[in-house]
Amino acid sequence: MDSFLEAARYYFERAADGLDVGSRLRRQLVTPRREIRFECILPLDNGEIATFTGYRVQHDEARGPMKGGIRFSPEVDHDEVAALASLMTWKTAVVDLPYGGAKGGIECDPHQLSRREVQRLTRIWTDQLHDVIGPNIDVPAPDLGTNAQTMAWVADQFALHHGWTPAVVTGKPIDLGGSLGREAATGRGVTHVTKLVLADRGEPVTGRKVAIQGFGNVGSWSARLLAAEDALIVAVSDVTGAVRNPDGLDVDALAGHVESTGGVSGFDGGEGFSGDELLVEPCDVLIPAAIEGVLTADNAGHVQAGVVVEAANGPTTPAGDETLRSRGITVVPDIFANAGGVTVSYFEWVQNIQQQPWAEERVNGELAARMTKAYADLSDRAAATGGDLRDAAYQLAVGRVARATTLRT
Ligand code: NAD
Repeated sequence: MDSFLEAARYYFERAADGLDVGSRLRRQLVTPRREIRFECILPLDNGEIATFTGYRVQHDEARGPMKGGIRFSPEVDHDEVAALASLMTWKTAVVDLPYGGAKGGIECDPHQLSRREVQRLTRIWTDQLHDVIGPNIDVPAPDLGTNAQTMAWVADQFALHHGWTPAVVTGKPIDLGGSLGREAATGRGVTHVTKLVLADRGEPVTGRKVAIQGFGNVGSWSARLLAAEDALIVAVSDVTGAVRNPDGLDVDALAGHVESTGGVSGFDGGEGFSGDELLVEPCDVLIPAAIEGVLTADNAGHVQAGVVVEAANGPTTPAGDETLRSRGITVVPDIFANAGGVTVSYFEWVQNIQQQPWAEERVNGELAARMTKAYADLSDRAAATGGDLRDAAYQLAVGRVARATTLRT
């Protein structure tokens, strides 16, 4: 079972088995409500034409409008988008947001396109979908390869059809109705979760050694905020390479290096090494914060951390998960560990609908409260069933969506 979609199904089926969900309801929960695939025909700056495949998979809306990012990446395909859409359904349910799940994207490499070309492509994607997204239907957000500027273009293009409606997307620039605290939110959530799990193990965060794969939005904010809690960030990798320092990297200096050079490679505050070794570095906490499917049957046996916090979506294959579980390593599942981003997206949507911006302290405070409550729910369930945190998270989520579906049927 190698594919991401099969892995997402596997975790769902385990939870459905544990909850004794019948076959009829199971089929309803697993089947996406709508899947859209289309070609974006893009006039290039040089006068040529290029075509790119666009997607939106709307998985489930039993608990509210569907929510999920837009990914611009060469790896985007139907199965990846469908897997991520279902993860969004379970993620919004775990942290008890009044949302369902969706995901979208374009199979493209935005780094090979000019800014004007990316803007045109984003507007084409929005034109294809404007009738099936909206504040009460489906609310996109940024993901890999997209950012606040991309959301500004989606909102602007949507406005041509429906009038200015800021709640149609989240992760917008602050000047267009974005929320304070959104940019750091996923890393802040990862930091809360890491502290909660360590506290349960009787380990203070101070002095814990942390290794992080990926130094983009999620990885860099996790590094910064954990370092601010006196954790030692001992190793970091990205597409350009990896750097380690057993005494702790200077994360602000590393962020400055990445800003000026485009990657962690060549940072002189530590020793460079092969990024392939990052996942098996000596550390207390391992945070995969880049891409899916990196912890597998091949390397999970060599992981040295006692705790794995899945900041990326789908970083552990089911076989890798089995190995980590059998070795007694605590895995904090993606659908909970990285839910800080969608939680603050929800706060942004609320602020847009109420036309009432919140102070950053309120955003951060409510995020902390939601993550803490969700962790208490998860650990109570894990204790009651004897399962691990992933089983507990999926059971909590699938149970909530199943109840909403049954009530509406
Ligand atoms: P990003 O594009 O900002 O950063 C990705 C980072 O991963 C970059 O540093 C890149 O160099 C690195 N990377 C890519 N391939 C790698 C590899 N093979 N080895 C090592 N590093 C590699 O993306 P992001 O927003 O930080 O998202 C990272 C992950 O977190 C994704 O799985 C995304 O779906 C998930 N996620 C993001 C958010 C959010 O709010 N941004 C929320 C929830 C989940």
